[in-house]
Amino acid sequence: IPIVDVRDVSKTYLSQGRRTEALRGANLTVQRGEFVCLLGASGCGKSTLLRIVAGFEATTAGEALMWGKPIPGPGPSRGMVFQDYGLFPWLTVRDNIGFGPNSRGRPAAEVRETAARYIDLVGLGQFADAYPHQLSGGMKQRVAIARVLANEAEVVLMDEPFGALDAMTRERLQDELLELWSRTGLTVLFVTHAIEEAIVLADRIVLMSPGPGRIEAVHTVDLPRR
Ligand code: ADP
Ligand code: ADP
Repeated sequence: IPIVDVRDVSKTYLSQGRRTEALRGANLTVQRGEFVCLLGASGCGKSTLLRIVAGFEATTAGEALMWGKPIPGPGPSRGMVFQDYGLFPWLTVRDNIGFGPNSRGRPAAEVRETAARYIDLVGLGQFADAYPHQLSGGMKQRVAIARVLANEAEVVLMDEPFGALDAMTRERLQDELLELWSRTGLTVLFVTHAIEEAIVLADRIVLMSPGPGRIEAVHTVDLPRR
């Protein structure tokens, strides 16, 4: 049974009297432990698909399942990492990373221990008491990744997470993410429009056809196992 199963999903946005068909009959399955890249041109519906899996958007038709059950809405099992980091500027690195466990009522000592573990995992030990504005872009994205992991994400959903970083930092973060993935057995669903990024990262590439409202096919490319 796949961890994520998107079945015949269509999505039409209605805003200010305008209809935009973003997805039509899209299908996607992700197995536990896979690193899947959703690749396609801007506007083809990648973010929409990711946001449906995150539970931020409802489908117009079809269904999105996690472990065979309908995705009810946003939840910690599907942690989202955004291009613009989305850190809480008023919280330190430690408190950003501990935010999820803390808000779910875990005891303070456990929150601290969990935060420390994930701070170490992404190599930010010296920056535990720093605030986001004191960090470089690469460091902020490390915090964002640690935060979803500390919140026990089963699938990490990443929407062009390295798009705002310079090329060298992006390469370093890609390497670190792959290292983390192979070491921890994470499941990753990663959206990008850059084929070179998909080729470096993915276990499997899901190619979406271009053109809004024209997502008739999602092609899958299986890459040799690393
Ligand atoms: P991608 O991530 O591949 O760039 P998106 O999923 O963001 O594609 O967008 C697919 C289509 O849906 C585009 O035409 C976009 O303009 C439209 N769209 C996305 N989000 C909204 C929204 N909240 N309201 C209206 N239209 C939207
Ligand atoms: P990026 O990946 O965004 O290029 P890194 O996280 O690789 O940045 O940081 C490069 C080095 O610069 C790190 O070893 C870090 O210690 C140092 N550094 C970056 N930003 C700061 C800062 N605001 N204060 C102190 N040291 C910093």
